[in-house]
Amino acid sequence: MITRPMKLIFDKSVPGRHGVTVPKADVPARAKLDPALLRSAPAELPEVAENDACRHFVNLSNKNFGVDTGFYPLGSCTMKYNPKINERTASLAGFASLHPLLPQLPSGETLVQGALEVLYNTERLLSEITGMSAFTLQPLAGSHGELTGVMLMAAYHRAKGNTKTKILIPDSAHGTNPASAAIAGYSVVSIPSDEDGVMCVDALKAELDDEVAGLMLTCPNTLGLFNPKIHELCDLIHSVDGLMYYDGANLNAVLGRCKPGELGFDICHLNLHKTFATPHGGGGPGSGAVGVVDKLVEFLPISTVERKDDGSFALCYDRPNSIGYIAPFYGNYSVLVRAYTYIRMLGPDGLRRVSENAVLNANYIRKKLMPYYDLPYPQTCKHECVFSATRQVKESDIHATDIAKGLIDCGVHPPTIYFPLIVPEAMMIEPTETESKETLDDFIETMIQLAETAKTDPASLHAAPLTTPVTRLDEVTAARKPVVADLGITSNE
Ligand SMILES: *Cc1c(COP(=O)(O)O)cnc(C)c1O
Repeated sequence: MITRPMKLIFDKSVPGRHGVTVPKADVPARAKLDPALLRSAPAELPEVAENDACRHFVNLSNKNFGVDTGFYPLGSCTMKYNPKINERTASLAGFASLHPLLPQLPSGETLVQGALEVLYNTERLLSEITGMSAFTLQPLAGSHGELTGVMLMAAYHRAKGNTKTKILIPDSAHGTNPASAAIAGYSVVSIPSDEDGVMCVDALKAELDDEVAGLMLTCPNTLGLFNPKIHELCDLIHSVDGLMYYDGANLNAVLGRCKPGELGFDICHLNLHKTFATPHGGGGPGSGAVGVVDKLVEFLPISTVERKDDGSFALCYDRPNSIGYIAPFYGNYSVLVRAYTYIRMLGPDGLRRVSENAVLNANYIRKKLMPYYDLPYPQTCKHECVFSATRQVKESDIHATDIAKGLIDCGVHPPTIYFPLIVPEAMMIEPTETESKETLDDFIETMIQLAETAKTDPASLHAAPLTTPVTRLDEVTAARKPVVADLGITSNE
């Protein structure tokens, strides 16, 4: 139900009104164009004054919720505050205005030494942080990094003459893991979690055979739990010449504490737009950089940035065993500049403090909310904790979704709900390292009040949110029959 509809800019259009003055043409009025290419009627554009256009878009932006407007504990998404210095460096003209096809000089030197140096240094720093031998900065999202990683796995097995058909993935994994493995042509075997919330070793052993190409693991997993048997898992997978894949989307959990390469992993992707500070959400540009150990370096995608003996940098395409191109040009360059700035600003000590605070904040919330909500896996967690609304469901038919909608009315972005799938009525809270104790205390107080409201006035939570332009949506219909434009077009699916 729409309570306070906002007019579309087309609704505000008045014929003949305009907000710009076009300079007088100093060229012939109409170039000779093929009539077939000409419009038969004027384009349907909104006709509004400059202040109408300005107010329309500023008001729209004010309806947006972001990390810069409030607390955003969306589990597994690492919606941390992003330092504005990153925006400053990414928008430097020497980076932002470069054309990807800038020519090489006749001497063979490129005109973009500085830009290449940033790529080279970022690649080296990420390798050091993760204990990997080399990185590709090309993948454009975490999921794209996963696909690249699984393609690297496949290239390794092809080169060794291994015929492998399946990839093992725990049931708590992010949905992109099985999707990436399947797109790369593997069958996916889901491994259940044990009573401690981590992957069950016996269930893994039952699936272990020569068909296993590798294991994709998030560690700490989506419950925020570190798997204490990680060395045993690595040994088991390596015993059948499988490869260990580390989903490091949320590396803020372990940054500066342990390195996937030293734990025994062979491939790892990092979400630079989560861990290394780029504003994200809403589908903005990302980067899923992928690191590999020695035995996989030859398969990395092209191009790579190499440092020549004279200290200059060059793009290298000479990698005969490469999996080839996986993205145009050099990845999402501005995201890489932000990651480089972030790493250089923090330095090794700062990076260690990232994980210290991420873990401390999550455990503070875990402890404080334990009396009010069920916590199926109550151990000390890493960067996030997963509560369940089962108690509220039993007591007063209040579900995780009702708590989430109630939070919106309190000015807080809801946590991730109904994920991971192994927790019923899940509420997955990732406070991130950038929030103060005061912000966490406000959130905790709000969650306690909502638990109270669930008991005393469940009807008000069933009605929430009431403060938003659009109230409770029919989410099933919205997903199955999306209205994609205000033209009466609805999908049949
Ligand atoms: C976010 C996330 C991904 C996917 O990253 P995208 O950039 O959204 O494609 C994969 N794994 C985990 C654990 C994540 O949190």
